[in-house]
Amino acid sequence: MSRYDNRSGDPSSYRPRTDSSLGTTGFEPPRSKKEYDSSSAPVVSPPKKIDLLDGLTHFEKNFYAESPSVASMTDEEIEAYRLKRQITVEGKDVPKPVREFRDIGFPEYVMQEVMKAGFVEPTPIQAQGWPMALKGRDLIGIAETGSGKTLAYLLPAIVHVNAQPILAPGDGPIVLVLAPTRELAVQIQQEATKFGSSSKIKSTCIYGGVPKGPQVRDLQKGVEIVIATPGRLIDMMESHHTNLRRVTYLVLDEADRMLDMGFEPQMKKIVSQIRPDRQTLYWSATWPKEVEILARQFLYNPYKVVIGSSDLKANHAIHQHVEIVSENQKYKKLVDLMEDIMDGSRILVFMDTKKGCDQITRQLRMDGWPALSIHGDKSQAERDWVLSEFKAGKSPIMTATDVAARGLDVKDVKYVINYDFPGSLEDYVHRIGRTGRAGAKGTAYTFFTAANARFAKELIVILEEAGQKVNPELAKMGRGVPPPPTGHGGFRNRGRGLGGGRSWN
Ligand code: AMP
Repeated sequence: MSRYDNRSGDPSSYRPRTDSSLGTTGFEPPRSKKEYDSSSAPVVSPPKKIDLLDGLTHFEKNFYAESPSVASMTDEEIEAYRLKRQITVEGKDVPKPVREFRDIGFPEYVMQEVMKAGFVEPTPIQAQGWPMALKGRDLIGIAETGSGKTLAYLLPAIVHVNAQPILAPGDGPIVLVLAPTRELAVQIQQEATKFGSSSKIKSTCIYGGVPKGPQVRDLQKGVEIVIATPGRLIDMMESHHTNLRRVTYLVLDEADRMLDMGFEPQMKKIVSQIRPDRQTLYWSATWPKEVEILARQFLYNPYKVVIGSSDLKANHAIHQHVEIVSENQKYKKLVDLMEDIMDGSRILVFMDTKKGCDQITRQLRMDGWPALSIHGDKSQAERDWVLSEFKAGKSPIMTATDVAARGLDVKDVKYVINYDFPGSLEDYVHRIGRTGRAGAKGTAYTFFTAANARFAKELIVILEEAGQKVNPELAKMGRGVPPPPTGHGGFRNRGRGLGGGRSWN
C-alpha cells in the first residue's frame, strides 16, 4: 500500500465525468454567474453549453504496448526501481515503469528528437508517466518543474495527435495545455516545437499581454497543440477564434499555481467545453486539499504518480541559508551579500510586491549593479527581453515577483535570494528551486523577519529534511521566541561559502 494513501484517498473514487450530476451530455450545466464570481479572481461569465453529444465520434487514446523486457520485470524489480527513483503510484492496473527509452515504443520520429537532445534515460516521471499516459487513462502527476514533466506529457501528446484524423478547416486543437503563466506557456511551446516538428505538428501559444493578431492567425491556420493561459484562451473562444470541440487530450500544468492565481473559474469554464471522454493529465507540484478537490471534478479513474515525497521538500542540491533581519536592514544586507557572491553568475532575487521589485531594482542600478526586473505589470515585450538578457547572462541579476518563481527553466542560476519571504512554504521551495537544476549545485539566501515568524516552524522542517543547519535564531522563532531587534545569526555565521570580510551582525 502506498504511503500516500491516507492523504489522497482512493483514486478509484474519482467521479466519472458521465456522472448524472453532469447532466445528460456529461457537461456541467451552466451555472449562475454568482458561482463564478470570486473576490480574488476576475469575473467570468457562465459557460455557454455546447452540445457536442451528437457530433462525438470515437477516438483512439490507448497506444501502449508493453515491451517484452518491461513485461518480464518482476514485482521485486519494479518495487526496487520505484524505490530507487522515488516513484510512488496509485490507481487501478498501474503499468510497469519503463527504464529505457527503447522500451517505451515511441515512434522513430519522436525517438530521433530524444536522441538529438542527448538524453540518456527517462527521468522518473517519464519512466512511470509515459506508459500511464500512453494507455489513454487520466493521470495525476505530482512532480516539479525541472523533473522532465513537460516531455512526460508532450511526447504521448504527439503520439496521440498523430493517431487522430487531420484537422479540417475551422477545427480547434487536439491537444490543449493550460499553464498559469506566459513564461511557462512559452517554455512548453518551445519543447512542443522541438519534439513535434519531425511529425509536422503545429503548436501555438495563447497568452495575454500581447496583441491578439498573430495568435488569431495561428489559430485560424489550424494548430494541433495549443498551449494557453486561461484568460486569453477564454477570450479567443468567446470571440470564436477557436473552439475546443476537437480536444481529446487535455493537460493542466501547475494546477496548484493556477489555483493560487485565482484561475479556478476559468479552468472550470474551459474544461466544461471539452468532450467528457477526453484524456486529462493533471499536474501539480504540491497536493493540498483544493488541488485534490479540483482533480476530482476533472478526472475519471486516474492514475496517480508522485515523484519524491508528497511532503513539501526542497532540492537537496541547494545550500539554504536563512538570516534573521529587520525590514530596514534588508537592502544593506543584500548589497553586502552580493559583494561577496557576485562572480558574474546568475542571481535571482525575489520580492513580494511589484513596487518593491521596482524600487530595489532602481536602487541597485543606481548603485552600479547590473539588475533588471520582471513582474506582472511589465509589458510582455519587456518581460521577454529581461528574461533573454538574464538567460544570456548579459544582466546577471534579475529581481522578480512570484510570477517568475515557478516554471522558469533558466539554466545556471547559481543563487536565489529571498529578499522578502514568500507567502507560503510552497512558494519558498519553488523559488529556491530555480537554482540547483539539472544536477547542478545551488545556493539560496533568505531574509527572514519577525513578520515571517509564523513560517519558522515549517521552514525548519524543510531545512532539516534537506540536511541544512538551522540558524539558532530561526530555531528560537520556531519555538515561539521573538527575534532580537537587530538580526543575529547572519549567513557568515553559517560558515558556508562566504569567506572572510565584513561581519554580518
Ligand atoms: P521540465 O520539468 O519539463 O521543465 O524539464 C526540465 C529540463 O529537463 C528541460 O530542459 C528538459 O529538456 C530536460 N529533460 C527532459 N527530459 C529529460 C531526460 N530524459 N534527460 C535529461 N533531461 C531531460
